[in-house]
Amino acid sequence: MKVLGLETSCDETGLAIFDSEAQHSSNQGLLGQVLYSQIELHATYGGVVPELASRDHIRKLVPLFDELLAQCKIDKSEIDAIAYTKGPGLIGALMTGALFGRTLAYALDVPAIGVHHMEGHLLAPLMGANAPAFPFVSLLVSGGHTQLIAAHGIGQYEILGESIDDAAGECFDKAAKMLGLPYPGGPNIAKLAETGNPNAYDLPRPMLHRGLDFSFSGMKTAVHNLIKDTKGADSDPYVRADIAASFQHAVVDTLVKKCVKALKQSGMQRLVIAGGVSANQHLRETLETALRKIGASVHYAPPALCTDNGAMIAYAGYQRLQAGMCDDLAVSCVPRWPLTELPPIDADSDT
Ligand code: ATP
Ligand code: MG
Ligand code: FE
Repeated sequence: MKVLGLETSCDETGLAIFDSEAQHSSNQGLLGQVLYSQIELHATYGGVVPELASRDHIRKLVPLFDELLAQCKIDKSEIDAIAYTKGPGLIGALMTGALFGRTLAYALDVPAIGVHHMEGHLLAPLMGANAPAFPFVSLLVSGGHTQLIAAHGIGQYEILGESIDDAAGECFDKAAKMLGLPYPGGPNIAKLAETGNPNAYDLPRPMLHRGLDFSFSGMKTAVHNLIKDTKGADSDPYVRADIAASFQHAVVDTLVKKCVKALKQSGMQRLVIAGGVSANQHLRETLETALRKIGASVHYAPPALCTDNGAMIAYAGYQRLQAGMCDDLAVSCVPRWPLTELPPIDADSDT
């Protein structure tokens, strides 16, 4: 089954075609993917402007779709189904992809399905041939979410813990801004941290001994104070690298300790990390070392499938379509949508 995936929940227009028959070949079963980021459009405003985001998605969807077909070397008549992000996200932005997808599906006379953006992130590491089996613990770490989830099957998600304030990705973005680095902060902090000493400065590990919840807003204040009180924080490249490395290490250390705790508590042996922050190399390496010690394994997607993209939507949509689900002609988007409200797919069903 060839599924077109459309992602327009925020400031990225992502389109991809996932082919279930190609899943065991290379490239994660992806025939092709295109991604357009609106970063420059919103840069002067210091944040995503919802109305501008919607308008830009509308401008880009058709040309990107044509580009994708050319890249995949297929005709649109070969598309078997369409999956679009239905929520959570900016309502206007969601509507553009949903309407485009639903209309195209109607015109092609193929089924369409609305996908949960976070389920897209969560399942992305399962694309391709070496997918970890359920059940597993999932760490969802993105720009808007930091959650530890017990995933028993598709749509069978139990929240073990989550951030009570900022998300880890948001914290990376804010720390980067304080260091004068451009958005998105995560990759820029990671780059600056490469030559720094992660133990140069002692930053807090918030809520380390309190259950499986997270808090990152105190970390922001701590970085702010560190930059203010440290000579050379705005100019000396060595000092700046040490600050970035210490910050990254503090966030990673917190995430890793909570993951280990979640695995022990749930008795599970597999950890899947997903969302933009799961692209972080220091997080991946630290988890690998820590989990090896407790006999557990860690699984993640290639970096391009960690941040927002159309491939993860195509793949999550495919999982539900092959279980017989699809949406009717009415288009409804859900700006706020808890992952735990998704309908489960019975793993044993052969529909
Ligand atoms: P959500 O999925 O919660 O709605 P989002 O879609 O904005 O939020 P993603 O696209 O999954 O989030 O991820 C973007 C976030 O990931 C940004 O905060 C970015 O700084 C962070 N990020 C990306 N790459 C890295 C990296 N290498 N290290 C750390 N953080 C990273
Ligand atoms: Mg984004
Ligand atoms: Fe996302």
